[in-house]
Amino acid sequence: MTRSELLQQLAQPHSYDIAVIGGGATGLGVALEASRRGYSVVLLESHDFAKGTSSRSTKLVHGGVRYLAQGNVRLVREALHERSVLLHDAPHLAQPIPFVMPSYRWWETGFYGIGLKLYDFLAGADGLGRTEFLSAASVKARMPGLKVQGLQGGVQYWDGQFDDARYAINLARSAVKAGALLLNYCPVTQLQHENGQVKGLVCQDEETGQRFESKADCVVNATGVWVDQLRQLDAQPEGADVKPMLAPSQGVHLVVDRSFLPGEHALLVPKTADGRVLFAVPWLGKLILGTTDTPRNDMPREPLPFDEEVNFILRESARYLSKAPQRADVRSVWVGLRPLVKPHQEEGASTKGLSREHSVSVSRSGMVTVTGGKWTTYRAMAEDVLSQCLTSRLIHQSRLTAVAATQLIGAGFEVNHRPVSLMSPQGTHLYGDEQALLAQLPGAQVWLMPGLSEAMVRFAARFEFARCVEDVLARRSRLLFLDAKASVAVAERVAALLLEEGCIEVNLSDYLLLAKQYTLAEL
Ligand SMILES: Cc1cc2nc3c(=O)[nH]c(=O)nc-3n(C[C@H](O)[C@H](O)[C@H](O)COP(=O)(O)OP(=O)(O)OC[C@H]3O[C@@H](n4cnc5c(N)ncnc54)[C@H](O)[C@@H]3O)c2cc1C
Repeated sequence: MTRSELLQQLAQPHSYDIAVIGGGATGLGVALEASRRGYSVVLLESHDFAKGTSSRSTKLVHGGVRYLAQGNVRLVREALHERSVLLHDAPHLAQPIPFVMPSYRWWETGFYGIGLKLYDFLAGADGLGRTEFLSAASVKARMPGLKVQGLQGGVQYWDGQFDDARYAINLARSAVKAGALLLNYCPVTQLQHENGQVKGLVCQDEETGQRFESKADCVVNATGVWVDQLRQLDAQPEGADVKPMLAPSQGVHLVVDRSFLPGEHALLVPKTADGRVLFAVPWLGKLILGTTDTPRNDMPREPLPFDEEVNFILRESARYLSKAPQRADVRSVWVGLRPLVKPHQEEGASTKGLSREHSVSVSRSGMVTVTGGKWTTYRAMAEDVLSQCLTSRLIHQSRLTAVAATQLIGAGFEVNHRPVSLMSPQGTHLYGDEQALLAQLPGAQVWLMPGLSEAMVRFAARFEFARCVEDVLARRSRLLFLDAKASVAVAERVAALLLEEGCIEVNLSDYLLLAKQYTLAEL
């Protein structure tokens, strides 16, 4: 459907079972799981799908080696199971990746190796490969580019990696296929209450300024680090101030060329100088270095890195990589805000802390707030939301007993098909079984740059809800996240193609300003 058709549908008087606010991993997961169970669903996103935290992760589909060290076995087991679900649902967008943890002290191989054997054990049938103890020579062979001075050996273990934003877009498209109505660039500006219960919302189309009202039995607040703003809106009729439930923290990533760590393995440093974890992950032809953990309360839409964070990543990377990356080597820098839940929440609200990681709570008015957790567990979070909605009698038991097949759009490969590795540069492989459809669009052989064809821009506008240059270059293609300067070079042509495809606000000049923020050097 075109955007104007979607807006016409939104304008129809209809009462939905569930209205979801927020189109990141969490909200999209709820929309997909609910519509698969036969509920009528509308989802509204204020910006683009995955524009918030969900396009800014470390790109890992993981059980969380860190949580194992904290002894949180239940959480790790759940995430390891969800890891295999994510990988199964879209093998072209989520795949296993081997990690090497090098040791520079005699006891590290044994110590970390035993922990990672436990990780394998907890994964059980969901395991992706066996943890192996490595000699120094094997580490060197697997990790060209690693500093070898003092190397004692290491451990290889398996986790997953993915293209987070494309995964989110495919969740959105799969939810639409299952019957949900989804709109990006439609911020929710008001909640509507009847007899003290939230029963609908008001949103506004950013492009036309048109205002829409939607009724729903159940309103789900899945707005990531912005949940407290919606909770405040919900409390407004009574004029009460809500206690913030989040204490967000910022994470920075730097992207450099693969030449800094060639090979087919990712690097995990379990304890940096100040006790943090450092990753170096090959992804879409580049290398991601990160991340940081800095408390931040202002919650901007486009957070900027602090100088100290950039210096920390460069400094720590230089301790492990034989060629130390410099500021000038950084192709892109991006920042995400973690929605970390505070231990104590709103008094009087019925709260169900389903794990230490995520929280699902129901306010007095019946608004369901879900936040925290991680990308890897988005589906388990959605299931928890639906079960909380049922327990709170906000929705009726689904009439569908069997939930439809779970693989996402694009994942219908033939048996034995081996998807192209996500360590390879961007290309048509990221379209999975839709490559044939892509090939039929005008400009399939016209390349704006390697990995981005004219047809891909048209595909983004026609099938992937892209409305402006940023949508294409940041989240359908990942060029902004891989090489901000290169993305500027093609921005004008992307804008022209979007105009041809009927997009009305392609926002080229906004994009050029944004791309500047993703680079450490002047463009
Ligand atoms: C640095 C970093 C690295 C991470 N790495 C990993 C990793 O490797 N693996 C992993 O599993 N997890 C990782 N995570 C965690 C994971 O990314 C997040 O848990 C997840 O993306 C949160 O998704 P969300 O949908 O809750 O929030 P978001 O993605 O932020 O979505 C919330 C959405 O709500 C929208 N919104 C806000 N207000 C309104 C409104 N009024 N109306 C409509 N919409 C609104 C926003 O625009 C936004 O799109 C990482 C997080 C960070 C910060």
